[in-house]
Amino acid sequence: MLNELTGKRVLITGSTAGIGLATAKLFLQYGAKVGINGRNIIKDPDILAEFDALPGEYIQLGADLTQSSHCEKLVADFAEHFGGIDVLINNAGGLGGRSALENIDDVFYDGVMDLNVRSVVMVTKYAIPHLRRSAQESGKTSAVISTGSIAGRDGGGVGAGLYGSAKAWVHSIHRNWVKEFTGDNIRFNIVSPGSIDTAFHHGKSEEVLQKMRNSIPMGRFGTSEEVAPTYLYLASHSFSGYITGQIVDINGGQMAP
Ligand code: NAD
Repeated sequence: MLNELTGKRVLITGSTAGIGLATAKLFLQYGAKVGINGRNIIKDPDILAEFDALPGEYIQLGADLTQSSHCEKLVADFAEHFGGIDVLINNAGGLGGRSALENIDDVFYDGVMDLNVRSVVMVTKYAIPHLRRSAQESGKTSAVISTGSIAGRDGGGVGAGLYGSAKAWVHSIHRNWVKEFTGDNIRFNIVSPGSIDTAFHHGKSEEVLQKMRNSIPMGRFGTSEEVAPTYLYLASHSFSGYITGQIVDINGGQMAP
């Protein structure tokens, strides 16, 4: 059934590292046409050689998605290159630092919210006409899949309240978009990772990391490669054509909402 991903036009924000990069590789493995995005483009020759050896096609599109104008240009450039969009994965995001509530200022607030909320709203807004057309032309569903977080479920750690709430915001607006766009045959689902071993956790002490591992029934962080297949599943009409408005938690048992 995953043959249906061959030639699918899949734009993945935040796919130059971590979860997004593993997901991009997997879609390329199944022959998709993938838009690779990050604040910067990938220059590492080993990663590029790996991409080139896979059956799919890709284009690199650097953009700073904290800015609405970059969100618009990213979507336009991808759609122009591949002739449309079948699947949008809103994965760009991040902690944006930690701050106690009493120290939050406008710069910190805007930084966290622009990265985790504005990027999702604006990229999705500009992608909708393409996703609508994709569904009309295929007679099947097109898909938006956004990366949420366990922090959107439990509020986040101390100092990460804005980040956790921004992710909860993303979880919630998907429910709204299901109401607005199901008539257009666009599905909206969330992949909600727990603690995944990426740059997201760089800078934490071994003591903190061990404390985190101890809070996970599986006793370890997940890998990006363990998260990536769920995006494939939710992108495939054959596998998940009747699934919309859902949050899929991938967290080694850390939370069972
Ligand atoms: P990562 O730091 O390895 O990758 C982040 C990606 O986002 C990179 O490609 C980076 O270039 C891109 N990015 C960052 N700022 C950007 C911007 N302004 N414009 C465009 N792209 C930008 O992190 P990751 O852990 O792979 O995180 C991916 C997603 O997963 C994020 O949304 C994150 O919040 C979420 N998440 C991660 C974890 C975890 O434990 N790693 C847990 C829950 C949710």
